[in-house]
Formats: sequence, structure tokens, C-alpha cells
Amino acid sequence: MSPFRLPPLTRAVLVDIDGVLVDSVDGATFDVLEPTTNRAYITCSSGSRADVDLAVSAAKRAFEEGPWPRMLPRQRATILNRIADEVAALNEDLAAIESFDSGLPIRQAKGQANRAAENFRFFADLIVAQVDGAFRMPDRQVNYVNRKPLGVAGLITPWNTPFMQESWKLAPALASGCTVILKPAEFTPVSAHLWAGIMERAGVPQGVFNIIHGFGESAGDALVKHPDVPLISFTGELGTGKVIYSNCARNMKHMSMELGGKSPAVVFADADFESALDSTLFGVYSLNGERCTASSRILVERPIYDRFVVAYAERAKKIVVGPPSDPKTEIAALVHPEHYRKVTEYIKIGKGEARLVAGGERPEHLPEGNYVQATVFADVPPTARIFQEEIFGPVVSITPFDTDEEAIALANDVEYGLAAYVWTNSIARAHNVSHAIDSGMVWINSHNVRDLRTPFGGVKGSGLGHEGGYRSLDFYSVQQSIHVTLGDVHTTRFGATGYADNDLGLGGPSA
Ligand code: NAD
Repeated sequence: MSPFRLPPLTRAVLVDIDGVLVDSVDGATFDVLEPTTNRAYITCSSGSRADVDLAVSAAKRAFEEGPWPRMLPRQRATILNRIADEVAALNEDLAAIESFDSGLPIRQAKGQANRAAENFRFFADLIVAQVDGAFRMPDRQVNYVNRKPLGVAGLITPWNTPFMQESWKLAPALASGCTVILKPAEFTPVSAHLWAGIMERAGVPQGVFNIIHGFGESAGDALVKHPDVPLISFTGELGTGKVIYSNCARNMKHMSMELGGKSPAVVFADADFESALDSTLFGVYSLNGERCTASSRILVERPIYDRFVVAYAERAKKIVVGPPSDPKTEIAALVHPEHYRKVTEYIKIGKGEARLVAGGERPEHLPEGNYVQATVFADVPPTARIFQEEIFGPVVSITPFDTDEEAIALANDVEYGLAAYVWTNSIARAHNVSHAIDSGMVWINSHNVRDLRTPFGGVKGSGLGHEGGYRSLDFYSVQQSIHVTLGDVHTTRFGATGYADNDLGLGGPSA
């Protein structure tokens, strides 16, 4: 039974194609589980190739014939701002849905509607302020950039903070004038279903927004391989990213990949101890540890190592694990039994690789559901699997280091390179260590707080391409260069008599 006031959620989550909510073509569905009991509480339409074909042809028609890509930036921005208003109005309802469906603690789910709304307002502002280059060569040529939306965008998203992640792709794709097909994660399809009504009420033209629920291997795969979808924006695991990368290559698709992480927090002895402690605890245990930028490896300088491990373990033992709906809960149920199995398997592995100093078990007062204690491993060697592999749960590895060089080497000794956190009161060290770390983003003396204008993305196994600010708009656009000759065109005259006497400039003027 659904606890929400919103009508469609009591029956089924459907596929939305061309502005119409429909069942999947073959009628297939899958069960959505509620993470505190793992009981199915709703069924969701399961899309496959036939549904993707229908959605792509609707989106293609809307792109080629509809008003959306041709609107003035101000007109699109007005609709994006209406989407933002609709999203912000969801407020407590969205928090309740995210919390119930994905197991996010309710207090941490509360900001999600505002954050998602902010993404739409931000890109609405950007498109009206956007400037593209024009370049003049006096008396010879004028050149300018003709920015055009790329076409039908395939957006594939994960289950952690799902609605927010979806907004992060939908906002720039729509702002750019693309039409879209959203394929949300199958563990958490419920909040994604709200988009259909939001888009309709905000006045998004028919066919611009389409959503196909279903499994990655069927619905996601069909979207990635569809020849009429020229770009894929994907957020998810590295392994899935590799599969999608090779499938996109066959059709030379534009791609953006936001993948996993194993981000280091490097804590030097001269850092503000209490701030580093608070922030590294929050960095790994907020959102149930199911966050891509989690500071899941803490590297601590030897002189403060023992004190840090003891203090960290003491605090971790006091973290409140409980039902997602309880405002006192700090860690709630992990999203799905499959993911719970993965996290608890890593804890088992960790017990053989390092020293367990907190957690490591199911809390006694929570006999069912996907609950696990805040877990801390100390003295973790860099060769350990729990040091190297993304666990994506409330599990942290702590490792000592002696020199700046060793800290940098440990920080970089993994396949991933998404985020890093550096804690020190030395200005020079803060910058030098940050510059030497192979990661897309570094926070100095802070956990993850973002300015939407900055680049977001990882290096190495954490992703391809950076989004954020104008970079996101560039990804969803073609920037066509138009070159106009102002005077006489200057051409080497092939086939004309006296070729050897012609000027040999190939292709005319250059700056
Ligand atoms: P996942 O890779 O299992 O699934 C992500 C999405 O891809 C889902 O919608 C899934 O259905 C789809 N998918 C799966 N196989 C596919 C295929 N063959 N073709 C097309 N689509 C396919 O990831 P997840 O478990 O949902 O999410 C957790 C992962 O996401 C973690 O690794 C986390 O670090 C990462 N993540 C990264 C960021 C970031 O910004 N870098 C943000 C959030 C999450």
C-alpha cells in the first residue's frame, strides 16, 4: 500500500510517451520493493525495445516539427522556471516518496525538491544570459557560432537521490532545446513518475519529455543503441559505463559519463581535528553512504592517527540507524536487498583484510530490512579490496601515512578519480596536495558543497566529460562554426593556367 497522496502511485508507475501515460507495449511489469521490509508495494511498467522505439519517434517528431528547439531562450526559460515552481511545490511529498522508496533518511530527503528546482532555475538563467563567440578578420571574414540543440537526448540515471539526479540531466537537456527520453533506475522508479505531471502542468510541449521505466539491460540498452538518439548522458557504475561506452561507440554517440568513486579524505596533523572528524563522518555516512562523492577512504597523518581512529569509531558507534521515516535517523535502510548483499559482502571481506573498529553488523533492533551499522575499518592496506573498490554504503577505510608524497600516492592508488577532500591549515600544502591528486574535484577543509557554475565530473574510472554550468549546455548542443567571406574569396586556382604562379595559400586567411 502506498502512503502517498499522489494518485497514480496507488496503482502502477507507467511509461510516459508523447505526453500519454501508457502501460508497456508487452504489458510487462516489475515489482518495486520498500527497503525497510523488502516487500513489493507497487508495480512498475517495464519498457523494452518496442517502448523505446515509440518514445524515440515521439521525441524525434517533437524535435523536428515541434516548437521546443525553435523557441526563444526567454520562452524556454519561462517554462523551465514553471517546472522549478512545480518541483519546489512538491516539497514534503517528494521527501516522503524518496524516503519511502529509496530508504533515504527523511531529514536528509527534505532538501531534495529545492535542490532539483534550483537546477531548473539555474539553467533557465544561463540560457537567457548565454553568449556565443563571433570573430572578425578585418575586411576578410566574419565567423560566428551557431549553437543548435543536438537532438533526442537519452538520459540514464541511478537510484541514489534519484529525482535530484534526474533534474541534473533534464534541466540542461531541456534548456538546450533537446527533446528527451529519461530512463530512471529500476530500484527507485516512483519519484521519476512525478515528472510527467510536472512537465504537463508547466506547459512543456507534447513529445518533448518521455520516460521509459525498466531494466538497464532491456530499456536502457535499447535507448543506448537507438540510431535516432545522438547523445547519451549516463550516471551509474563504472562497469555499466564501460558497456554503454562501447555500445555508444558503434554509433559515434556523444557521451557524458558520471561514474563511481572511491574518494580520499586526506587529514594532516595540522588540520582542525574536530572539523575534519565531523566532516569525514558526514561525508561517508550521509545519504546512507550511497553517494558517489563519499569520502570512503580516510588517509590520516601518523601523529594524529590513533587519536583520529578512536574518536571516529566512538562517533560512528553512536550514529542512529533506524527507519527512514524517523527524523532522528541518521542512517536508514539501504535501497534494495541486492545492494544490501553487496555491502554486507564487502564488510565480510573487510573483516579479513583490516581491523574492524566499529559496526560491521545488522543493528539488533532492526531484524528485517536492509539495515547495517555504520562500519569503520582501520589500518587498511592499499592492496585491500575495501580500499580499492566502491562499496557505496556506510563503510569507511582508514589508513595512516607519514609524508605528503605518501598521502598523494595513496590518494591516487585506485581506479577512480571523482572527488577528494584535503584537511590542513597550511595554505601551500592544501593547494599542492590538491593539485597532485588525480580527481575531478577537490574540497579543501570542507565536505561536498557545490557552486552549480563549477565543473562537475571525474577522471580515470570516475567518468568522461565534465558537466556543470555552461559545460552542460555545450554537451547538449552542437556549436556550428559559420565562416563568411567579406571581400573577394582568395582561392588557389587548381586547373587554371599558371598554377605554379598562383599564391599557394591553402584555404585562405587564418588569424
Ligand atoms: P548502475 O550502473 O547499476 O545503473 C545506472 C542506470 O543504468 C540504471 O538506470 C540502470 O537501469 C541503467 N543500466 C544498467 N545497465 C545498462 C545497460 N547495459 N545499458 C543501458 N543502461 C543500463 O548504477 P546504480 O547502481 O543505479 O548507481 C550507483 C552508481 O552510480 C555508483 O557507482 C555511484 O558512484 C554512481 N553515481 C555516480 C554519480 C556521479 O555523479 N559521478 C552520481 C550518482 C551515482
